[in-house]
Amino acid sequence: MRGAGVRILVVGGGIAGLAAARTLRGWGATVEILERQAAPPGEGTGIYLPGNAVRALDTLGLGAQVAERAVHIRRQRTADHRGRVLFDVDVDELWDGVGACLALPRTDLHRVLLGGLDDVPIRWGQTPALVATDGAGVTLQTEEGHTDRYDLVLGADGVHSTVRRLVFDTDAVRPLGQYARRFLAPAGEPPHHDDRSATWSVLLGSGSAFLTIPIGNGHLYCYCDGPLDDPPAPLRDLLSDYADPVPTLLDALDTIGGASAVHAAQVEEVVLDSWSRTGVLLIGDAAHATSPNMAQGAAMAFEDAIVLAESLTTADSVTEALAAYERRRRPRTDWVLAQTHRRDRARTLPPALRNIVLRRIGRRIVRSNYLPLRAQP
Ligand SMILES: Cc1cc2nc3c(=O)[nH]c(=O)nc-3n(C[C@H](O)[C@H](O)[C@H](O)COP(=O)(O)OP(=O)(O)OC[C@H]3O[C@@H](n4cnc5c(N)ncnc54)[C@H](O)[C@@H]3O)c2cc1C
Repeated sequence: MRGAGVRILVVGGGIAGLAAARTLRGWGATVEILERQAAPPGEGTGIYLPGNAVRALDTLGLGAQVAERAVHIRRQRTADHRGRVLFDVDVDELWDGVGACLALPRTDLHRVLLGGLDDVPIRWGQTPALVATDGAGVTLQTEEGHTDRYDLVLGADGVHSTVRRLVFDTDAVRPLGQYARRFLAPAGEPPHHDDRSATWSVLLGSGSAFLTIPIGNGHLYCYCDGPLDDPPAPLRDLLSDYADPVPTLLDALDTIGGASAVHAAQVEEVVLDSWSRTGVLLIGDAAHATSPNMAQGAAMAFEDAIVLAESLTTADSVTEALAAYERRRRPRTDWVLAQTHRRDRARTLPPALRNIVLRRIGRRIVRSNYLPLRAQP
């Protein structure tokens, strides 16, 4: 199919929506984006992009721009909550021949994706109210009263997708019983800074974890997850027996606003039997969000965008393309989902046993988690 003359609306200007708008415009379609927020995000935390995410960014033609703003992460270190190292992974080697692993501020990634839109317009501050499909196309009306017709509507509107609610008769969101908190902290002075500068580093507690990733400009991206208590335990309580750098980073957090500087959310996944209805397709988190413990959300969203444009190019109709797309994407997103479950199960082991297992075979487990993702999507 040729893209010229095909009209596509992308609902959601996040990672998946912006990437898809770029690949579909590249295919030749007329594309527009509907975004609920009134403006691009002015602040955020960090994001870690494993090798397959960076390879996909290269395919999108945006890899160099992202790399310029990012820290090249070379090692992943896993330790117990006292800081005793359980195993190290050389991620340059793990992703050799695929792509570097990068970490950067989320706002920088967003800026690069927005810059990659060329002439695709974004209608900020708008959201769908009604989506009706018929054999000839899709009619979408916004809350703001604007109605238009499209050949394809993409729901790229995240875990709590409105497109999914309006078109798919199912509630696909599953809470995972975890609560995640993220903040940015100063990276600190040497020697800690040198030691951590290119290392993704996690401390594992009992039912909780604390992760640091350098993202450049003297910032560390800190991520902590723990049980979903009501109300959630204060970070100081949850992490009271953690070794440095945790207490130092919590002190630093106090100086930059404490709880008000923390982005907190419960961890959820999205599981659906099918991602499409006539003329409507869900992509990114709206279709297949998982726990972030594999850091594959952005990679899957970029790959969705690439595979969708390829599927449209080789199919004779939108319907055929959506079926081919799903056949190709399913095994990969299912794999990621299964690995996130595997990793979550390991959290339930008694820490002493978990530590023995991870010391022995931690590196092998990480390799097996990511091995199939080295292949092209
Ligand atoms: C705590 C945490 C840490 C994570 N860390 C990483 C990581 O390090 N690496 C990684 O790769 N992934 C990570 N992820 C996952 C990653 O953030 C997501 O997979 C990714 O953001 C998905 O992109 P998306 O565009 O599908 O959804 P979103 O990023 O949620 O974007 C959806 C967009 O749609 C808009 N929208 C929503 N509703 C509407 C509506 N009704 N109308 C119009 N627009 C709408 C939103 O405003 C937003 O702009 C993490 C996730 C969590 C929860």
